[in-house]
Amino acid sequence: MKYVSTRGAEAQGVSSAYAIKTGLASDGGLYMPESIPEIGLDFIKELAGLTYPERAAKILSLFLTDYTYEELLEDAKGAYAEDKFTPSPAPVSSLGGGRYMLELWHGPTCAFKDMALQIMPRLFSRALRKCDESREALILVATSGDTGKAALEGYRDVPGTKIKVFYPIDGVSRVQKLQMQTQEGNNVSVSGIVGNFDDAQTGVKTIFSDSDFSKELSDGGVFLSSANSINWGRLVPQIVYYISAYCDMYKNGIIELGERIDVCVPTGNFGNIFAGFIAKLMGVRIGKLVCASNMNNVLTDFIRTGEYNKNRDFHPTISPSMDILISSNLERLLYVLLGKEKTAEYMKKLSDEGRYQLTADELSKVQEHFVGYFTDEDMCKATVARVYKETNSLIDTHTAVAVNAAERYADDYKAESKMLVVSTASPYKFAADVLLSLKGTKPSDDLMALEELNKYTSVDIPAPLAKVLTKKAVHTEIIERTEMKNAVKGFALK
Ligand SMILES: *Cc1c(COP(=O)(O)O)cnc(C)c1O
Repeated sequence: MKYVSTRGAEAQGVSSAYAIKTGLASDGGLYMPESIPEIGLDFIKELAGLTYPERAAKILSLFLTDYTYEELLEDAKGAYAEDKFTPSPAPVSSLGGGRYMLELWHGPTCAFKDMALQIMPRLFSRALRKCDESREALILVATSGDTGKAALEGYRDVPGTKIKVFYPIDGVSRVQKLQMQTQEGNNVSVSGIVGNFDDAQTGVKTIFSDSDFSKELSDGGVFLSSANSINWGRLVPQIVYYISAYCDMYKNGIIELGERIDVCVPTGNFGNIFAGFIAKLMGVRIGKLVCASNMNNVLTDFIRTGEYNKNRDFHPTISPSMDILISSNLERLLYVLLGKEKTAEYMKKLSDEGRYQLTADELSKVQEHFVGYFTDEDMCKATVARVYKETNSLIDTHTAVAVNAAERYADDYKAESKMLVVSTASPYKFAADVLLSLKGTKPSDDLMALEELNKYTSVDIPAPLAKVLTKKAVHTEIIERTEMKNAVKGFALK
């Protein structure tokens, strides 16, 4: 299986290892497989009898054809080991009323990004060897919270790699900060930046585009790489849990083999929901994909009107991991539905004017698969509270956005299929706002929120978060933005 750029300017396809090693195509596009492998009901039936790592290896081997099944199984077993995902990587629970929840937050950092970032570094490390890359990779991350910690956990002690994370001291919660400051591993480094997320991100972008600096690092045997969600190595593990959830729903007698389900995903960068769309294209019986947004509703407008317009106000919300105005992975959807010429044209418009408009025909192709809803802050809080009261399930604010969208979709469309709602974070990851939703007030300190939420609900605090409260902070350095390059150099060439 070869990989091609969504913008089509590269003459030849590349191997999956090369796509994972480089991340972005040379024409600025994203890598996509040349074709989507199809699976039948027999395959799903077979997978239903396997463990999660075995399911993952089988599915990944359809896409990553230059990796052997044994390699993929070894990586999947390491990534999704029982001591990392407790009780299991992607369990399906019931919300009642024909709605089910795919819980993707049982990993080491309690958010769904672990599902990809636990295995991707292993695939990446193998890719370096498969591409005869002798330099060491330095993964550089600017984070507003969840990604930094998940990337640190994923890359720690992975051969051939080092990871450096910058977080804004004014832009992450105390829990998130502590999660990063207590990070273990021999190849990790974390620095706080004086400023906000934009300052950290701009600093990282400047370092990536500094070609003299790249040369200097390369002479020292190091190259820079990123861990963000446009890398195919992050997307492909996400396809696995949609197929796995369908297997479990079948295995547990919730659905018949071949029965159609709908799926609802709390969406920011469009990576997670796009993986669900690929599962549908592969042959999993998915009807509609409901794209759930918060007040940053650029995708709702896009799906309803065909206009993508990022020129709008940015709203900081209580579902911050979805506070995004440019959903990078949407480019992959355009490519699949409209082809590379149109994708290149619209992406140029987006970068020149900040907007583009689909034709009516093009829009109907999007609407054949997708429905869009957005949830405001009050609806989000009310949903957390009501779901807890009615079903005893404690959900986080991102998941609440999706549950609310799923309910409105069912009403509006008189939908009868069972609905799988994707749950992307542990309620304890956003404990202060979950408490606010349940009680109407929150403690001034979000470390106290963990214990208070635990007292209020008697739902256990996940072990990785409980541990953070007792671990020693070791990465306490805080630097000015102007010092970032020196910090990278010092760490890279150490
Ligand atoms: C990253 C994230 C999302 C958004 O996922 P995308 O793939 O960017 O659409 C939703 N919820 C949580 C908790 C996240 O961390």
